[in-house]
Amino acid sequence: MLEIMQLSIEPLDQLERDLLDKISVQQHLREQQLIELVEINSGSHNPEGVNQVGLKYQELFGPLCSKSERFELPKWERIDYTGKAEHQALGSLWKFSHNPDAPIQILFCGHTDTVFPVDSPFQHAIRLDHTRLNAPGAADMKGGILVILSALEALAQHPLAHQIGWNVILNPDEEIGSPGSANYLAEAAKQHDIGLIYEPALPDGNLAGKRKGSGNFTLVIHGRSAHAGRAPETGRNAINKAAELILQLASLNNQKPGLTLNTGIIKAGETTNKVPDLAVCKFNVRIQKTEDAEWCLERINEFIQQHNQQEGFHIELHGNFGRYPKQLDQPHLALYQLVQQCSEQLGTALTWSATGGCCDGNNLSTAGLPNIDTLGVTGNFIHSPHEFINLPSLSSRAQLSALLLFHIAREGLPFKRLRPQGRPL
Ligand SMILES: [Zn+2]
Repeated sequence: MLEIMQLSIEPLDQLERDLLDKISVQQHLREQQLIELVEINSGSHNPEGVNQVGLKYQELFGPLCSKSERFELPKWERIDYTGKAEHQALGSLWKFSHNPDAPIQILFCGHTDTVFPVDSPFQHAIRLDHTRLNAPGAADMKGGILVILSALEALAQHPLAHQIGWNVILNPDEEIGSPGSANYLAEAAKQHDIGLIYEPALPDGNLAGKRKGSGNFTLVIHGRSAHAGRAPETGRNAINKAAELILQLASLNNQKPGLTLNTGIIKAGETTNKVPDLAVCKFNVRIQKTEDAEWCLERINEFIQQHNQQEGFHIELHGNFGRYPKQLDQPHLALYQLVQQCSEQLGTALTWSATGGCCDGNNLSTAGLPNIDTLGVTGNFIHSPHEFINLPSLSSRAQLSALLLFHIAREGLPFKRLRPQGRPL
């Protein structure tokens, strides 16, 4: 289905150099836009804020695209600490489209949500020095979406812009594993030739290569309540059962290469004179190979079955592997090498390395779409109050993407892909 070609990139002409120079002229404007965006809280659980951010991007992308659409996502179901399912609203997903009939179709992805909830103390931008801005979501990834904007503005002025059609998808739920947008991404993956995702670069400025897969799970352990003094023998202690089960889960660590399992939350109990009848545990599993997901689920279910055979206990497992590992197959490697050549043409060496973290790049590759997922800005300490963006990377990374687009418009892709054509979104 895929034929890989050796691609050598041609030198830039004067017009292309001018277009790249114009990107840095916009630096100040992009910094102002970024500050406006980070000052709006858009934690994944704050759909109003996420939607405000989405509307700001719609204003910015509107003049560039021929169509902009807003999609409402189904509510997100998660298990609360009473063991019951709760349903939470998500923000809207945006799609900005252009040139749907062009021979090459590129999917650009970004997310409008951040990990910082509406009551987080981290809500404002602070300039650390001349080049660094400390702000929630500045690197991950409000700055990255501005990089897409600058690159597409440059492409629009290129004489071969008609060669490339694009969709920009901004999803509102990436930071919680894209539960509502995963299906949209999988369908969109089928309609494009490559995916470009604007997660921040690794702290050293390089790209993420292979990524592990990840699953989030909840165990609801029901026991039986009893007075701890008068009739303890009639009780079934859910906390003790949780402890046994958690140690069994921990024993799975490294039973397959790269497999890690982390129990991160346990909530249980009210008082010491009562046998607790409920414990809720949440854990995350990371896998290096797709087939390890099934292996892992079989082990976990065996543990549960074993405990469920004991009178008075009932254990339920909720959750799944939301993201499978991203492997670098030939088309991925060809795309990475193309970006590397573009970076060298701009005078910066660039490479990639494996990471245990996941993102929508996992989703696109599972759906068969070769993609690079760390084309956003540079910075560090994402997901913490110390998150910062290197402001000049708003321009330098946009130049990298613009150059990539110029080369693709002129010389094509390093492989031919027969698009399976998904259902229209
Ligand atoms: Zn991100």
